[in-house]
Amino acid sequence: MWRSLGFSVDWSLQYETISPAVRKISQELFLELVKQKKAYSKESPVLWCTECQTSIAQAELDTKDIDSTFNYIPFTVDGDIIEVATTRPELLYGCVCLFVNPEDKRYSKFIGKSARVPLYNYNIPIMTDKKVSLDKGTGAVMCATFGDSTDAEWTEEYSLPYRKIILPDGFIDKSVPFIGGMKTTAARKEIIRLLFEKGLLIKSESITHTVAVHERCGKEIEIIPSRQWYIDILFEKERFLKAADEINWYPEQMKNRYIAWVTNLKWDWCISRQRYFGIPFPVWYCKGCGKAVFADPDQLPVNPLETEYNGKCECGCREYVPESAVFDTWATSSITPQINERFGIPLVPMSMRAQAHEIIRTWTFYTIVRSLYHTGKLPWKDIMISGFVLAKKGEKISKSKSNSDFAPAKLIADNSADAMRYWAASARLGTDTFFSPDDLSASKRFITKLWNASKFAISHLQNIDLSKIPELLPIDKWIMARTDDAIIEATELLNEYEIGSARHEIDELFWKDFCDNYVEIVKERLYRPDIHGEEERKSGQYALYYALINIIKLYAVYVPHITEYIYQEFFRQYENKASIHLLLWEKPNGIDTELLEFGDALKSSIAEMRKYKSENKLSMRTQIEAMKIIAPEKLIPLFKKSEKDLLACSMAKSLIYVTLPEKDTRPL
Ligand SMILES: [Zn+2]
Ligand SMILES: [Zn+2]
Repeated sequence: MWRSLGFSVDWSLQYETISPAVRKISQELFLELVKQKKAYSKESPVLWCTECQTSIAQAELDTKDIDSTFNYIPFTVDGDIIEVATTRPELLYGCVCLFVNPEDKRYSKFIGKSARVPLYNYNIPIMTDKKVSLDKGTGAVMCATFGDSTDAEWTEEYSLPYRKIILPDGFIDKSVPFIGGMKTTAARKEIIRLLFEKGLLIKSESITHTVAVHERCGKEIEIIPSRQWYIDILFEKERFLKAADEINWYPEQMKNRYIAWVTNLKWDWCISRQRYFGIPFPVWYCKGCGKAVFADPDQLPVNPLETEYNGKCECGCREYVPESAVFDTWATSSITPQINERFGIPLVPMSMRAQAHEIIRTWTFYTIVRSLYHTGKLPWKDIMISGFVLAKKGEKISKSKSNSDFAPAKLIADNSADAMRYWAASARLGTDTFFSPDDLSASKRFITKLWNASKFAISHLQNIDLSKIPELLPIDKWIMARTDDAIIEATELLNEYEIGSARHEIDELFWKDFCDNYVEIVKERLYRPDIHGEEERKSGQYALYYALINIIKLYAVYVPHITEYIYQEFFRQYENKASIHLLLWEKPNGIDTELLEFGDALKSSIAEMRKYKSENKLSMRTQIEAMKIIAPEKLIPLFKKSEKDLLACSMAKSLIYVTLPEKDTRPL
């Protein structure tokens, strides 16, 4: 499909992330991070999906609004009661502490005392932390292992004990009274029922609140302790923030998303996943002392589940357990620059990364991290961030949904690759766009227009002599200057990756200047050298050739097939290159702005004439007495040299000049 879309790609350089070469690079670079002490493993609370039964990274979280209840439960302190509101009463047995805000006067007398956990009747400390919100719930919160990431932070910060409640499969641990062996949601209901029955439920409010879910399956995330591998990203946050300023972001505002993400990072990057498919960790653990041992570089790529470790551990033990986790896919996607350097050619920093906006927090960020860690350099100079194509508001086009009529292969077969490409270039950089197959009719209209205009022009260029530049008439000079002008504008926009705006610039030249005006004006001169003169015809041919070859060169990046066809049909014999895609764009040095002003005055005078005819229900071929030329004084000589053309295209018997003061070309 990529080939049929006309992508200019060197297919011999493709790679697969599961190929031995890439597995080797990925494992090598992991070992490099271990050596740098940037990669480490530890037993700690991790974000865990009980549905997929794997650890996940912060970047894989989504949020979802769910209906729930806020349950007010009484903890007792020396005969007093502290009410605590919680959405997760099933974690009551996991309670390790109550926290209040140090500023909260309501609770100052309780600080440092012990509170008794209702239903389970054991004591926990009452402590203060600024993170507790004064106005949410009752101002007293329970810290349970683990309700959320704050619980995990507090547990570490205040060295609180761990009480096991939820297991990796989403069931409650058997040891938990009343609810052991139940699923989380059933356990929640059961606890609420018990609290109510025992008069321990003060009230229960219905609420809608936002929870973190796994983006892959939509299931609510738990936090459970587990041994995982991490890449340290929190320690060098400042360095990653600084990197944002050293990369050119297109569009600029996407940088803010990156900065917001990095600023709010709370966890190191967990790179191990409890999945079957993926690149394995080149790691074994000593059965005797638990120490991790690593593969030798010449062993890579290695799968520790298939290959035994041969060395002897420091503790004397020779038996090992293989690591069964695999790398998170981003652990390998983040080293694309290094994978591309596999032929030994240094490429970093590469010139540009192209990607969509939803993976700034993963692909962009992780690639920057890895590049800085492995090379000390940024991965690329520029990053270009595109939007999504949506079926309608908020709905992605996907195979699973009914909008699969939008399958690219079918759209290409039905409409042509050029029509698809021309449409795709209409989106603004970084902005989501909607797609409906009807949108392609504009593309098809354009392609037909380009074909017809080219065919017409080429029919008048058959005996062109490009060996010498003829004496050029002002109108011909204008279309050439206007073409140069569009080339300069489009080049600047493309240098900023504004593909859509650049196309718009080329469209303006093609539709408004070339088709609607220039060709209409020059037509008769090309047909009738007997009236207009042979030299004048040559001037027209020269300009027509220049404008059209450059228009198709400009469009070649958008519609590579039709432009190549037009090129092969005619231009190839003069341009001496086998394909239009081997030609370079012109690099005009300077534009005669007076010619552009002349063109503007010319176009508005013609527009007035056409408006007059259509308002009076006259055909465009109707003869009129005179055509009014409205232009500043200095441009009048250019119009005078163009009289024959203007009379021919307006079917007027004479021209009337209305001069405007300088720099004022408004029509009267
Ligand atoms: Zn999941
Ligand atoms: Zn050992």
